[in-house]
Amino acid sequence: MKLLIQAGYVITGLPSQPVRRKQGILIEDGLIQAIDEWGQFSPEDDLPVIDARELTVMPGLIDAHTHVIHSGDPHEDWRLIALSELTPTTTLKAARHARRQVERGVTTIRDVGASDWIDIALRDEINSGRQFGPRILAAGHGITSTGGHMDARKYARPGIDNDLLNTIGAVADGPDEGRRAARMQILRGADLIKINATLSEYVRAAGGQCAPEMTYETMAAICQVAHNNGRKVAAHCHGGRGVQDAINAGVDTFEHGRFLTDELLDQLAERGRFLIPTLSPEARRAELGDIPEEPALLRWTTMATDAMYDTVARAHARGVQIATGTDAGMPHVRHGDLAFEMIHLAEADLPHQAVIEAATSVAATALGIENVTGAVAAGLAADLLLVDGDPLRDIGILNDPARIKAVLQGGRVTVDRR
Ligand SMILES: [Zn+2]
Repeated sequence: MKLLIQAGYVITGLPSQPVRRKQGILIEDGLIQAIDEWGQFSPEDDLPVIDARELTVMPGLIDAHTHVIHSGDPHEDWRLIALSELTPTTTLKAARHARRQVERGVTTIRDVGASDWIDIALRDEINSGRQFGPRILAAGHGITSTGGHMDARKYARPGIDNDLLNTIGAVADGPDEGRRAARMQILRGADLIKINATLSEYVRAAGGQCAPEMTYETMAAICQVAHNNGRKVAAHCHGGRGVQDAINAGVDTFEHGRFLTDELLDQLAERGRFLIPTLSPEARRAELGDIPEEPALLRWTTMATDAMYDTVARAHARGVQIATGTDAGMPHVRHGDLAFEMIHLAEADLPHQAVIEAATSVAATALGIENVTGAVAAGLAADLLLVDGDPLRDIGILNDPARIKAVLQGGRVTVDRR
């Protein structure tokens, strides 16, 4: 199956030659075979041609931090879900959320915590071609300590066993349990391992930012299992010693990172690790004026919101590689709203070219799939957007689905608004 796109303007997603004009993009068997000056192509009569002379062609976007089972509806009651929502119900919701990602131009997501292996099942159905949705990299459960960030028993009355809860977390204390939990995720088909390096819940009341959650030894054991099996490790972390331990343990991507010091950022840059700032939850709260009721949480959220733009600006200035993740599924953060995250990265003074790379080639590298997707380049999957306007000038264009005229996944037009 061959296809040729006649492109007026191409945003490649790459730092070298970020923009190309009047290009032909030849697609064969789902891959970009060649990209070159339009004059270099002499299309055969029967070769289908997509006319994008008046459009921008750019890579499909990547959301590197989602929770596909959660909707982002602020009224969604996680206590109720953990205790009583049927797995089929949650699964159907997840399929709907995944669908919305593609409709908004996101062709790859990395899910960092789902219950009942729903992310893995959904990934497999989409890969089979029977289900419409983005490419998914799935973590299965996020590994957490007893009482940790992803221990769902905090939503239940005392005495409720973890096994009775429909939870996105796998509780593991100590290196042996950590290894076992990591191996269990891999056994069930996880593409990566998600851990929780720092914990804010219990220190907020005293005005603290976060405490270490897992010990260095546990994180090192998990990273060893993951890396031995070719998986990357993503860590929920905000700052402090837990981040230092996560760096030393070998964690690959650092999620959120509200309170990262220059010293920690320098280490991320030197060691080639990635920051995924997920500005969306706090930015949405601020935009909508949704103020947390609990005083400690309000204080913490204010502190985090005040710090996060400066942290991203310092990270960029110090050479840290930044990738886009929305934390979709958290209150007010809907699946598919990656452009909102991109707009806020730009508000943190990230140059537009860096924002585009964060959502394409840098995100792909952070996920270890830079040889699969994330750029308009020969040899990569033809995951492409046809956009009305120039998102390099105005990122907000991507926030308007009507401006995303078509989405191609592996060379197939799966969304068409032309
Ligand atoms: Zn998250």
